[in-house]
Amino acid sequence: MQPFDYVVPKSHAEASALLVEGAGIVRPLMGGTDLLIRMRGGFVRPERVIDLKGLPGMCDIRPGEQGWLVVGAACTMNQVALHPLVQQHYDLLAQACNAVASYQLRNRATVGGNICNASPAADTAPALYCLDALLEICGPGGARRAPIAEFFLGPGKTALRPGEFLTAIHLPPAPTDACGVFSKLGRTKIGDISMVSAAVLVDYGLPIADFGFTETRTSHTRQSTIRHVRITLGAVGPTPLRATEAEAALALDPSPEGVKRAADLAAAAARPIDDIRASAAYRRAMVAVLVRRGIEAALAPSSSVLRPASAGGAA
Ligand SMILES: Cc1cc2nc3c(=O)[nH]c(=O)nc-3n(C[C@H](O)[C@H](O)[C@H](O)COP(=O)(O)OP(=O)(O)OC[C@H]3O[C@@H](n4cnc5c(N)ncnc54)[C@H](O)[C@@H]3O)c2cc1C
Repeated sequence: MQPFDYVVPKSHAEASALLVEGAGIVRPLMGGTDLLIRMRGGFVRPERVIDLKGLPGMCDIRPGEQGWLVVGAACTMNQVALHPLVQQHYDLLAQACNAVASYQLRNRATVGGNICNASPAADTAPALYCLDALLEICGPGGARRAPIAEFFLGPGKTALRPGEFLTAIHLPPAPTDACGVFSKLGRTKIGDISMVSAAVLVDYGLPIADFGFTETRTSHTRQSTIRHVRITLGAVGPTPLRATEAEAALALDPSPEGVKRAADLAAAAARPIDDIRASAAYRRAMVAVLVRRGIEAALAPSSSVLRPASAGGAA
């Protein structure tokens, strides 16, 4: 690997200034599970890497204002997946984090790095699209927030401007009566990048969660009207893709025929390519399978969607 300088900034402003002054030769570093491998392979050759993990708030998960949850960009996959608030209210994200590679890698890989790498196959992205995540970005002009769907521009390309870096992921208040399912297909059962992934979120429209709530509902029916559906596909387009026609179809008709129609519409929305992992035709066929199974699991009467908050709620 080409030698490089390793810099640990003390403040957000210093980090941003270092990124601006070294444009083209400087790269941000989090867990390094993407960056260091690309550096070792000679695909990128930064002269300096800026380790952002130690900046204030980067490794914290905390309740935000008005029921939002704030996940620091440098939180590892395991940290997020095992956090009580994530498990209770954003199980879809926990499932996605748990689907990344191996336990050891998840101790190192961060959610922010997964997003900033801007791979169409990034496993946390479909879940974050379904959850309508907002990304907090720090740069020379201060902080700004952007919807995740506006952040992914293409393979390896993000909406970050010169000197900007990701600091946190903001999750809107979680619906208490929703069920999310993340599924992926790799070439091996664990440890492989997705050749297809799909996140499905079905929201039945009961009141949103409050991190202090203590309700322990024991029975849950699927009689209520669907308020909204989110379906996002991974690894079958230049960015993660919302399958909006499939979402609308399922919200109108959650019967078995409606589920099949939604899965077919999701497959039609995919824009897969042939590559070393799979052919485009196989990927499109598997979108229909993953989405149908995801919807069926989300609609199943036994789906556990409401979990009581632990004492005190916030961690
Ligand atoms: C063996 C192996 C298996 C893998 N399996 C999977 C898998 O199953 N699913 C999956 O989704 N991924 C997988 N990956 C890819 C990788 O582990 C994930 O994308 C991981 O989440 C990246 O996070 P990181 O913290 O290591 O990022 P880093 O490698 O530190 O950074 C990734 C990229 O983002 C940039 N960056 C980092 N932080 C910021 C920031 N705050 N602001 C702006 N830019 C930033 C870096 O410069 C770099 O370009 C795998 C990787 C390996 C090596």
